[in-house]
Amino acid sequence: MHGRILIVDATATNRVIHKVKFAKAFYEPLLAADGAACLRIAAQDRPDLILLDPELPDMPGTEALARLRSDPATRSIPVIVLLARRDAATRLAALRAGADEVMEKPVNDSVLLARVRNLLRGRAEAGIVAQALGDSLPGFLGLAEPPAGFEPAGLIALIAARPETALLWKRQLQQRMRDALVVLSREQAMALPPERGDGIPDVFVIEADLDLAGDGLRLMSALKTHAGTRHSAFCIVAKRGDGAAAEIAFDLGADDVVALVAPEDELELRLRTLLRRKRQTDRTRATLEDGLRLAMVDPLTGLYNRRYALPRLAGIAAQAAAEAQPFAVMVVDLDRFKAVNDRHGHGAGDAVLVEVARRLSDNLRMSDLLARIGGEEFLVALPQTGLPEAERVAERLRQVIGDEPIALPAGGALRITVSIGVAVGQGGAGAAEDAAALVDRADQALLLSKSAGRNLVTFSKSAA
Ligand code: GH3
Ligand code: MG
Ligand code: MG
Repeated sequence: MHGRILIVDATATNRVIHKVKFAKAFYEPLLAADGAACLRIAAQDRPDLILLDPELPDMPGTEALARLRSDPATRSIPVIVLLARRDAATRLAALRAGADEVMEKPVNDSVLLARVRNLLRGRAEAGIVAQALGDSLPGFLGLAEPPAGFEPAGLIALIAARPETALLWKRQLQQRMRDALVVLSREQAMALPPERGDGIPDVFVIEADLDLAGDGLRLMSALKTHAGTRHSAFCIVAKRGDGAAAEIAFDLGADDVVALVAPEDELELRLRTLLRRKRQTDRTRATLEDGLRLAMVDPLTGLYNRRYALPRLAGIAAQAAAEAQPFAVMVVDLDRFKAVNDRHGHGAGDAVLVEVARRLSDNLRMSDLLARIGGEEFLVALPQTGLPEAERVAERLRQVIGDEPIALPAGGALRITVSIGVAVGQGGAGAAEDAAALVDRADQALLLSKSAGRNLVTFSKSAA
C-alpha cells in the first residue's frame, strides 16, 4: 500500500531530505514550499497524507491546517505536523487546528514511517468500499457530507497498569469533556458483549505496559478481533521517547499513541480527534451498509430486486447441477393490475403490491428465493424441488392471493388474482439448463396462463 505524500516545508534542504526518505519507503513525494502551494496541490492532487512544517513564509501553519480542514476536498487528508522544537503551546494549537499527529524534530524516522503507514491504512479502510462503488457514488451516498453539528456524547474506557493512573486520567478528562469515562480492568474489557451497541466504548485508552512490557498492545490486538469492539478506536499510552512501543503500536493498528505524562489538554484534544474520526467512520459504514442493502432490495416491498435475484438464481442452478437435484422457477404476475391503479389510484396499487409480497413471502421456505423483478411481477425459485412439489407450492401461492380480498388504505377491499408460469430444471451433469433459459420457459408458461383466462398456474413442458 503506497501513497502520495505532500511535503510542505519552506526550506529546500528539508524538502529534499524528506523526499529522499519517502521515496525510499516507496511513497510518491509531492513538494510545496509555502501555504498557498500546499492548499493548491492538496485540492488538485488529493495526496494521501500531508507532512507539514508550520513555519511557512505566507501564512501561519495553523491557518493552512484550518483551511485544509474546512475544504470538503481536503478535509479528510491526514496531516502530520513537524515542529522545530518542543513547545507545548504550538503542539496544542496544531492539534486544535486539526492535525492528526504532531512530532518534534529531530523525528525518529522509523516512528514517523510507522505513523504514516498507520494513517494511510486507516484512510484506505475508510475509502476502499467507497472507491469500489465508483467516484460519483460517495457524494450520492452522502459520504462527502460535512460532519453533523451536534454530536452525541461518546464512551471512553481507561485501562492502566495501576488503577490510580486510570482514575487520574478520569478526573482530568471529566472536567474537560462531556463524554462518559469508565475505568476498566483488562478482564472487564475482554468480557464486553460481542455485539455492537450501547456499552461498547467508542475509544479505549490503554497503557502500553500493563503487568508486562507491551501487554497493553496485546490487549488492544485482542479487542480489535472481538466483534463488539473491533470498530472502537484505540489510543495507546506509552512512556515518552519509547519509539519502539510507538512503532509497534502503530503497526498493530493503534489510532493514536500519546506520551504517559502528556499534558492533560493534549490527551483531551487527541481523544476528541479520535472520537470525531470514529463517528465519521461509523457514519460512512452505516451509509455504505444502507447503500449496499438498497442496491439489492426493492424499497417498496423489501424483497430482493432483479439485480440481486438473477445472480442468486444462477447460483441455485449451479448448486442443483452439482447436487443432481431438480429446482423450480416461477414467474408470478398480477392480473389486470393496471385497472387497480386506474380505478383506485397509485397508492392503492402500491398497497396491493406490498400485501401480495407479504403473502408470497409468508408461504415460502427460508431457502426459497423471492424477488420483485418487474413492476407487478415476482420471481420465485425453489431449490431441491421437483414437479409435484412445485405444483403444490404454485397452487398454494395462487390461492393465498386470490382467496382473500386485500384491504385498501382508503378503506374497502379488493380481490386480486395472479397468474403463474412454472418451469422445473433437472439438475445433474448434461441436464443442466441455464437459469435464464428456465426463466424464459416460466415466462412462456405465464403467457399461457394469461391467455387461458388468468388466475391460473401453467407448467412449461420440459425442454429436455
Ligand atoms: P395482465 O393481467 O395482462 O398482466 O394485465 P396488467 O394490467 O396487470 O398488465 P400491464 O402490464 O398492462 O400493466 C401493469 C401495470 O402495473 C402498469 C403499471 O401502472 C403497474 N405498476 C407497475 N409498477 C407499479 C408500482 O410500483 N406501483 C403501482 N401502483 N403500479 C405499478
Ligand atoms: Mg399483470
Ligand atoms: Mg406484468
